[in-house]
Amino acid sequence: MSASDPQTLTIGWLYPTLMSTYGDRGNVICLQRRAQWRGFDVRVVRLDLDASADDFALIDLFVGGGAQDRQQEIVMRDLRGAKADTLSDRIEAGVPGSFTCGSPQLLGHYYEPALGQRIAGLGIFDFVTKHPGPDAARCIGNVVYELTAQPLATEIATDTGTTPLAIGFENHGGRTYLGDVQPLGQVLYGNGNNGKDGTEGAFYRRAIATYAHGPLLPKNPAIADWLLRAALEQKTGKPVTLIPLDDALVQPARSALLQRLGLQETA
Ligand code: GLN
Repeated sequence: MSASDPQTLTIGWLYPTLMSTYGDRGNVICLQRRAQWRGFDVRVVRLDLDASADDFALIDLFVGGGAQDRQQEIVMRDLRGAKADTLSDRIEAGVPGSFTCGSPQLLGHYYEPALGQRIAGLGIFDFVTKHPGPDAARCIGNVVYELTAQPLATEIATDTGTTPLAIGFENHGGRTYLGDVQPLGQVLYGNGNNGKDGTEGAFYRRAIATYAHGPLLPKNPAIADWLLRAALEQKTGKPVTLIPLDDALVQPARSALLQRLGLQETA
């Protein structure tokens, strides 16, 4: 299988050795399996410290997970120059990505960690993140939000026939404040970006930023499929229809959690 083969999907996993603290590896597995079950060959490229800009240039779909402040600083010292430029260019060109918690903090303008110096980010997303300090309460717990970002929300609503609710589990100290960028959604339960303005995550081009671990994609297969379709359409330049999968196991789990939180998935 070659990276240019339209039946091959290349997933680039950002810094898995340093940024796998919160179980976001499940997003990579979910995307890989859902593509394989539809007959695609999948390559997962680990974009660790030894990756080159050429590796970034071959990626059809980026995935980044959460990390602690210390690891984020190491990553940011590494993610500079040609690698950073290639990642920015790919996102700008419409290559999709799913970035959770620590990784989007690095893709905004800056992250102020609990201790130490402000870390400059890539500025892909127009937001900033500030950690109020080691004594501040962390935002921990279930998070539910209605997807509002366009065109993602409308496309998912059309595909699924339901109001698109996203379910996850947040665990962050940093608070994110959006600039001129769409939030990914509106918080129905939990803190989201900063616990104050009701926004959760961000959406730019086809890149998703979110505080929802869980991991996000197995709990929200409609988002996983949206990312897969976006990646394949970006790669081939043609409309792609994905064969539906049997998600009968996930729906009762979603409903049970929503019910416990006093929410429901509306038709
Ligand atoms: N270190 C960051 C914070 O506490 C990110 C945490 C995470 O990725 N879950 O805000």
